[in-house]
Amino acid sequence: MDYNVNSEGYYGEFGGAYIPEILYGNVKNLREQYLEIMSDPDFRAEFDNLLRDYVGRPTPLYFASRLSERYGARVYLKREDLNHTGAHKINNTIGQILLARRMGKTRIIAETGAGQHGVATATVCALKGMRCIVYMGETDIARQKLNVQKMEMLGAEVRPVTSGNKTLKDATNEAIRDWCCNPADTHYIIGSTVGPHPYPDMVAQFQSVISSEIKNQLQRHEGRDWPDYLMACVGGGSNGAGTFYHYLDDMRVKLVASEAAGLGVDSGETAATIHLGKRGIIHGSRTFVMQDEDGQITEPYSVSAGLDYPGIGPMHANLAVTGRSQVVAVTDDEALAAAMELTRLEGIIPAIESAHALGALGKMDFRQEDVVVLTLSGRGDKDMETFVEYFNSTRQEGS
Ligand SMILES: *Cc1c(COP(=O)(O)O)cnc(C)c1O
Repeated sequence: MDYNVNSEGYYGEFGGAYIPEILYGNVKNLREQYLEIMSDPDFRAEFDNLLRDYVGRPTPLYFASRLSERYGARVYLKREDLNHTGAHKINNTIGQILLARRMGKTRIIAETGAGQHGVATATVCALKGMRCIVYMGETDIARQKLNVQKMEMLGAEVRPVTSGNKTLKDATNEAIRDWCCNPADTHYIIGSTVGPHPYPDMVAQFQSVISSEIKNQLQRHEGRDWPDYLMACVGGGSNGAGTFYHYLDDMRVKLVASEAAGLGVDSGETAATIHLGKRGIIHGSRTFVMQDEDGQITEPYSVSAGLDYPGIGPMHANLAVTGRSQVVAVTDDEALAAAMELTRLEGIIPAIESAHALGALGKMDFRQEDVVVLTLSGRGDKDMETFVEYFNSTRQEGS
């Protein structure tokens, strides 16, 4: 079986491009050009140079000896937390800004929830001197002040969105509306492996640098270029897609995706889209969507702002239904405990999103000799308030 995208933009039954007619031109343009631009040697050279000198790649593959001892396997961490701006998202925004320039675009738009993708986009716009407009729900603006300030310092205009719940879904709708009105000069940088084809494939390819590095680094560490397990958290699925990419068809490698269970899969307060979602269409893509009986999208919940998306990238929907990946639901409590554990065992404070991947370690059935690579998608600086609040409240409960 082929787990990658087909020429029509589908992963099995998932994906495609379900878009209003007014966007046909934009999406068609992108679809017709992205593969050619991305395979151009000059493009590759510029992309690779920026990843090396600006982002700081390759990121280390770190053998975590105390974590390994704790879980009874050989556990490596792929350190995306050490990238410039603190997460894997910059890999994609670097790729897309270079692509936008080659397509002759001068204006960049993006949507953001927690602000991480907004900051990564504002960063590359500053780097390339491009105009940058970031749509962000009013609720999120209030919750994520620091990221708003960073975007503004970087020269981006943050446009508050006041429709719906004033969160990510509404910001995405606003960005799409903008793109409809400004097709000629504007490129829309989507932040994950979601949206209409070719976005999921394009973003997965930009992020696939993660798994090509893992191959080289494992060869050096272990004398073989494949692990027994690859583990990543999935919101829209971009760090997971990048981690799995070069191993999709290598059946020796078990793929494990962690999604955010919030207060519990059956609690009504969750973002466990693959566990609970029904087939539907969200933001131009056929995939699993959390929705009520009338097909209304339900508001997801997770302690981690980067994982509370009511959909899932089509690649991951297909990996899950075909049984290629194992999907583990990790609750807020499990993720926060895992974040504390990594901090105390290895001296690394992870992003709350990444802590959901760590939270799955205890649910696996490892053998001592298994080689496990877990992608640490980001660092925890942005989450300090949440950590402090949580550990203070549990300490009080415990006393
Ligand atoms: C945004 C984000 C995620 C979730 O996005 P994916 O597209 O699923 O990778 C995960 N980890 C961190 C640190 C993030 O910022």
